[in-house]
Amino acid sequence: MKIVDVKIYPVSIPLTETFRIAYGETSVAHTILIKIVTDEGIYGLGEASPTAKITGETLSQAVVNLEYLTSLLINEDPLNIGALEEKINRSLIGNTSVKAAISMALHDILGKVAKTPLYKLFGAYRRTFETDITIGIKDLKSTMKEAIKYVEQGFKTLKVKVGANPKEDIERVKAIRDAIGYNVKLRLDANQGWSKKEAVRVLKAMERYEIELIEQPVPYWDVEGLRYVKDNIDIPVIADESVHNSKDAIALIKRGAVDGFNIKLMKCGSLREALKIASIAEAEGLKCMIGCMVETKLALTAASHIVASTNNIVYIDLDGDLSMADQPVINGIQRDGGKIIVPEGYGLGVDIDEEKIKGFLVDREKCLKLGI
Ligand code: MG
Repeated sequence: MKIVDVKIYPVSIPLTETFRIAYGETSVAHTILIKIVTDEGIYGLGEASPTAKITGETLSQAVVNLEYLTSLLINEDPLNIGALEEKINRSLIGNTSVKAAISMALHDILGKVAKTPLYKLFGAYRRTFETDITIGIKDLKSTMKEAIKYVEQGFKTLKVKVGANPKEDIERVKAIRDAIGYNVKLRLDANQGWSKKEAVRVLKAMERYEIELIEQPVPYWDVEGLRYVKDNIDIPVIADESVHNSKDAIALIKRGAVDGFNIKLMKCGSLREALKIASIAEAEGLKCMIGCMVETKLALTAASHIVASTNNIVYIDLDGDLSMADQPVINGIQRDGGKIIVPEGYGLGVDIDEEKIKGFLVDREKCLKLGI
């Protein structure tokens, strides 16, 4: 089997409302769907969700780099996944969202050839699990309203974005507990927004509200700061922006800096690398979270196959498409409140809606001119 063609679809998907976190806000998802086509008619799908502030990739760069990296795959056997991932890793440093898209597509082909859902190829552990849903940074009243809405929709865990203003962070967490009580889990994500001392002060004030975990309280480079926070509060500290790949995970373990890792395909660039981080954590006795960017059900389905094949990803944050009113993707994961059900279709079990995607496409020239 040979790869004969690759199609790249940059798309722009409006969100139903602006999503704000500690270092920025977004009202449109810029993401790229890809299709790797073989000479036997089998194709694999992937998605790159370039996020400049985390992976250093803009949309236009990601399109160009996808064109470059996928050109290296033509005439190659798509089942040589290890060799092909090594080839693209050696050809271009970083650019992990682009590499993640290629990894998803190659694994999708593998599953289709094997006539098996991907999570079963990896070694099935479960088919369903519960995800949280995220509340962005917003005023007190909107925060409470949203928390109540999500609990009514059946979510058992809420993730609250904090890190913009310590006083307001504490007020918002208190307001959520007042509104929904203590039967729902609350996890927090500061997205690097605090200094280490500020983090300890704010989190100590929040401990009474039963916080399940805190993600990335301090800047990504401040490993000592992570350790300081971990050693001075009773809430588990999970690295997100500080851990992209397995080598980062090892470095954080050696420093005793965190209680766990937030794995994201867009940061680690490969499904196999994601599983490796989960395995490293398991061997060390640490727990993993899995997260996402603002991305479609395609990438979320790929991440769900990872969750379904490991028992050590216990904090699940796969809500990236819930603020999209519509998306050009069919099949894939199903949702029931906070519950995610992994598809039983071969490979990823997800498809692109070829008609619908036309309404979301950003053409290549416009994409390059967007400067994003
Ligand atoms: Mg995070």
